[in-house]
Amino acid sequence: MAAALARIEIVHADITTLEVDVIVNAANSRLIPGGGVDGAINKAAGPELGKAMMAIGRCPAGEAVITPGFKLKAKHVIHTVAPVYAQHREQDVWRLLANCYRNALALAVAHDAQSIAFPSLGTGVYGIPITRASAVAIDEGAKHAHAARVIFCCFSESDASIYRAELDRRNG
Ligand code: ADP
Repeated sequence: MAAALARIEIVHADITTLEVDVIVNAANSRLIPGGGVDGAINKAAGPELGKAMMAIGRCPAGEAVITPGFKLKAKHVIHTVAPVYAQHREQDVWRLLANCYRNALALAVAHDAQSIAFPSLGTGVYGIPITRASAVAIDEGAKHAHAARVIFCCFSESDASIYRAELDRRNG
């Protein structure tokens, strides 16, 4: 029997509006609600989310933790911490970024999620170049051998076109 593979989708949207089982947050390692997508997710989820994050208290780069989604449509938020581009050796950046996607996907499966949406992890304030970051994201999504929807949610049309080009390159 053929293995059921993840269905990869690329959308241009505000991740807080998506009706999916899990949305992924680009958190910081102290799990203190910050700016960027983290700020947007916390604003939409309400203050309980920040309290839940701070109760966990810490998440090293590449790891992932889970909380409820509170006021979001998503049932859960998985918080993962991308490496700061300027603070690591190049090879460690790509390894840690891949770990973010892999660990978030594993946690989503453990919580029986059928759909998970990622922002473009690490490519905002953390400064990771988006073209290679999109390749890492799609690689890890494609390896995910579960019949789930894996959505890459880009916040601008130009980011979405980079992700689409990467997906097209792979699909030949
Ligand atoms: P990091 O610190 O990991 O770089 P940022 O939050 O600075 O995280 O940025 C990660 C990505 O999330 C960027 O591409 C940014 O444009 C995007 N982003 C910001 N707000 C939202 C949102 N509401 N929905 C989806 N993506 C968002």
